[in-house]
Amino acid sequence: MDLFYVSTRDGQKKVKASEAILKGLSEDGGLFVPTSVPKLEVSLEELGKMSYQEVAYEVMKLFFTDFTEEELKTCIKRAYDEKFDTEDIAPLTYADGAYYIELFHGSTIAFKDMALSILPHLMITSARKNHVKNDIVILTATSGDTGKAALAGFAGVEGTKIVVFYPKDGVSAIQEKQMVTQKGENTHVVAIRGNFDEAQTGVKKMFNDRELAKELDQAGYQFSSANSINIGRLIPQVVYYVNTYAKLLNAGKIAAGEKVNVTVPTGNFGNILAAYFAKHMGVPIAKLLCASNENKVLFDFFKTGVYDRNREFKLTSSPSMDILISSNLERLIYLVCGCDADKNSELMKSLQTEGKYEITEEMKEKLQDFYGNFATEEETAESIRSLYEKTGYVIDTHTAVATTVYEKYKHETGDQTKTVIASTASPFKFTRAVMQAIGQDDPSVSDLDLVDALAKAANVSVPNAIEEIRNAEILHNTVCDVEEMPQTVKKFLGI
Ligand SMILES: *Cc1c(COP(=O)(O)O)cnc(C)c1O
Repeated sequence: MDLFYVSTRDGQKKVKASEAILKGLSEDGGLFVPTSVPKLEVSLEELGKMSYQEVAYEVMKLFFTDFTEEELKTCIKRAYDEKFDTEDIAPLTYADGAYYIELFHGSTIAFKDMALSILPHLMITSARKNHVKNDIVILTATSGDTGKAALAGFAGVEGTKIVVFYPKDGVSAIQEKQMVTQKGENTHVVAIRGNFDEAQTGVKKMFNDRELAKELDQAGYQFSSANSINIGRLIPQVVYYVNTYAKLLNAGKIAAGEKVNVTVPTGNFGNILAAYFAKHMGVPIAKLLCASNENKVLFDFFKTGVYDRNREFKLTSSPSMDILISSNLERLIYLVCGCDADKNSELMKSLQTEGKYEITEEMKEKLQDFYGNFATEEETAESIRSLYEKTGYVIDTHTAVATTVYEKYKHETGDQTKTVIASTASPFKFTRAVMQAIGQDDPSVSDLDLVDALAKAANVSVPNAIEEIRNAEILHNTVCDVEEMPQTVKKFLGI
């Protein structure tokens, strides 16, 4: 039976998975949601004996019902291969009473790889299924992390090209080096003379430029986006929650049917929403602990029912969570207002005009699965230090936000339920902050050299992703003004 997707702001027009993946966002500005969350068809015991790729197939086939078995298996095989430095893909580490799912074993050592390594394959398959003859050109503006993960995902994928724009002086030295050393004929990286907002506005303008779209079409190209609201990014994230539970069961760490809590360091609300979907597929999950940094909009929301972005934006040591509008939350809002697209549209309009909205008591009732809390900068550093001193295990700043919230929750509630924590980045990605937290920073050493000291402290080897960029050749050196962005893209495409 086919599963369909509707927009959170329309609710009527149904599209197939491949159409939703190709479109990314619905024309009305809404996000695509499945009309129901399918139940797992094989038991968790059976899933516990399968490889990550096999579990991925069992989960994704239920959501991407218009893909053939062969299409989906090919996408999975191409995504979760040697790009990951472990066959487990998302291995578990037990430390100080919690299980950490390490989601950072892909090409850019952060969790975005889990979805961005498969999205290009889902997208190109969707294009072919819908008789799109053009090559897909992905445009992305990045403030650092997403750009590299998207480049790595799309590099070498036939039928696609990717152009990433970053603010010349607005990303870290390591992030810039990661991007400008990207291999692959179909990858392009451009530094723009401007800030991130200008880069993003420039990209949005190109998406809406009909003349440009026409020119591209004549040359056999069309634009698309690798944005985090694409269901082709959300659904692959459900897999690791299903896989984790099944593997814990298989290893005898939990009993059949035993519930676990899940703690997720949250920014755009995509990762934790995937855990919510896993719960609704039948994985015994009790509470979903939503962990924020000092940009604690979500903590306030779960406490009061008011989502309010009118506040100071804070730069923290967990930059991938420095977000005031968690775009994926709209999917949860739509679900808890009884899939009422009008009601949801009203709230989102209020967010756009007033910067805030308030949900009803009835909707609040339906958020009982969630617990929200946050970590200050000091608490985050303290969690890294304390876990390291107790166990020798070193976690990154984002993961430490989750660890802090997990400890706060236990302290507040006395709940002893076994807990899984999503570990979203390798500590080697945020070496400086991590070394400061464990009291082993050396200001005279560059970020790229400090990794050797971290490797020693953590007693692990420096990840390949870091070793590679240390000696890599610079392959991209285009710099342009914001106004020149369209010409730059056309030049890359030979138009
Ligand atoms: C993107 C990101 C997050 C936040 O994930 P969301 O799905 O946006 O909530 C957390 N940690 C790291 C390292 C990330 O890159």
